[in-house]
Amino acid sequence: MSNSTNNHTELLFWNNQNLLEFEAIIQEIKDKGIILDKTAFYPESGGQLSDTGQLVLEKDKKSKLEVEFVEKQNGRVIHYISGKIPSNFKKGLKVIGKIDQERRSNLMRAHTSQHVLSAVIEDIFKIKTIKAVIDEKLITVYLERKITEEELTKALILANNHLLSGKKVNSKFFKKSEISENVKVNLRGELSKVEQAKVRIVSIETLDSSLCGGTHCQNTQEIGIIFLDDFKGDIVSYTFGDTALERMISLSLGVIGASKLLASKPNEVVNRIPKVITDLKELKDINSQLNRILLKQLMINVKENPLIIGEIKIFREDFHFAEKKFVLQELGSLDENQLAIFVVKGPIIVVVSSLKQLTANEIVKVFCEKTTNKGGGSPTVAQASTNNKTEDLEIIMEIIKKKMK
Ligand SMILES: [Zn+2]
Repeated sequence: MSNSTNNHTELLFWNNQNLLEFEAIIQEIKDKGIILDKTAFYPESGGQLSDTGQLVLEKDKKSKLEVEFVEKQNGRVIHYISGKIPSNFKKGLKVIGKIDQERRSNLMRAHTSQHVLSAVIEDIFKIKTIKAVIDEKLITVYLERKITEEELTKALILANNHLLSGKKVNSKFFKKSEISENVKVNLRGELSKVEQAKVRIVSIETLDSSLCGGTHCQNTQEIGIIFLDDFKGDIVSYTFGDTALERMISLSLGVIGASKLLASKPNEVVNRIPKVITDLKELKDINSQLNRILLKQLMINVKENPLIIGEIKIFREDFHFAEKKFVLQELGSLDENQLAIFVVKGPIIVVVSSLKQLTANEIVKVFCEKTTNKGGGSPTVAQASTNNKTEDLEIIMEIIKKKMK
């Protein structure tokens, strides 16, 4: 079956999807891509990502190009290369194409697993898959409407049973007119939308027949198990094989760890968490109430015991547990010739001044120049960041003493 007469690229993976090495002739060199007369590289389509691999010049095997992405345009397959195409790759020359085996194998298994899950969901709930995104490790299936968690559980268990039972996967071309009525009835995909006279039907023994041009593994046992990654009602994401097992184990370990921390059984963790969150919120409320009481008491002490330099009274304290707005509230307005320097939650240093000769923003400005800290504010209230609050409070005191001389 050669289509090369009408300039179409012959797709070798349709007749032999296990073909990982092939010879072909360069038909055209495009800006960053090469078009061959035939290819075993799968071009991205139907949700399945493209193959990657190499193109090697047959007469000079040291000349290799990495194929990063493959796509089909108007029946011609373009192999996109990293970087510029060297001048020794010319039209008419023979190349050897090598497909990245691991990636292809993963994509075939991923794609086949999607057939199984979509077939199961359509079979038991009559819900069609409208789109699928098939990556090497993660598959996302978009359903035409939402399913419940119970329905999803049922579908995943059934799909896994089918996978593990080892069902044969076949693909074959049929003339549209040759397809029997009982095949048509259960066929996934819309036959009426296919323009070509021939269609490719991929079938999974006793489970599924669907119209598909992708690559698939030969037996569902090659896939391993599938395991949920994310669920949003009509969007199901899952992993398969070893990735699925790794995810199961890591989730189990996480839940077991959490159950120990919560002193409950693993299956009770989910029910315990809302209570833990409620308890935490209550504790936070109590804590902030206690903080307000503590702040009030400390502020009384601070105001009763100011530091006196000349005519100036200075209030200073570390209130790192309290919000700035509460500290300023408790401080109230300053009388004449008063300064306040507090550490508040952040930690941030807040300077409050009623002095005309030494404003709050002036103190902060000098402080920021002396340190690498950032800050600013108004003549009455200014603030600066602090990395070492004890040291920074000392620096500010020094600035004030110097200025007051
Ligand atoms: Zn398929």
